[in-house]
Amino acid sequence: MEVRDRILIVEDDKSIRNFLKAILEANEYDVILAATGTEAYSLITSRCPDLVILDLGLPDMDGMTILQKVREWTGMPVVVVSARSHERDKVEALDQGADDYITKPFGTSELLARVRTAIRHSRTAGPAEGGRSGIFRAGGLTVDYDKHRAYVDGKDANLTQNEFKLVALLAKYAGKVMTYDFLIREIWGPNMENNNRILRVNMANIRRKVEENPAQPRYIFTEIGVGYRMVEPD
Ligand code: CA
Repeated sequence: MEVRDRILIVEDDKSIRNFLKAILEANEYDVILAATGTEAYSLITSRCPDLVILDLGLPDMDGMTILQKVREWTGMPVVVVSARSHERDKVEALDQGADDYITKPFGTSELLARVRTAIRHSRTAGPAEGGRSGIFRAGGLTVDYDKHRAYVDGKDANLTQNEFKLVALLAKYAGKVMTYDFLIREIWGPNMENNNRILRVNMANIRRKVEENPAQPRYIFTEIGVGYRMVEPD
């Protein structure tokens, strides 16, 4: 018998909860439900879901509190689904360790894609953080982690060292939004935080080298006010 991935939906709005449940069950997920933060936390610890879909506005606590508590002891994937569309809220959720953030209203295919990506990452993210070897391929873009080179349509993109590190980091988390602060911290260290300019300049250079039309990127997308997202690999 096939083992299904178990998803916990934390949502106090009954119609949205049932809607999510129907979509996920139709796509072969095993679904459990919680309407409050207390219920959610108890199910997270007792049933160990493979992924949590977390609403932020809950009757008994803020979803961010659950996220923080969960992150104290597990890397279990958490996708935040919220009506809060402000960039600040997205950045906060992602920086607190959410794997992704979806704003209501959202499409079914978008939701399923984010869920698949988050579960896949939780399976492939090994202990060798950062030191990934192998090759990333998406369309004409190839990132060779071992050779520290990126190629576009077979030609070396001639990225500088930091440009390559950025592309490799985005590729490693392909499909997922990486916040500005996370990227800056990973590449330039904690002292450069809040210096988005250096990141923007590097990203503009990368796009010139990698994208056919930097204004309409095919590989690296901007999540305005939040960060960047690499396209999913082939
Ligand atoms: Ca709510």
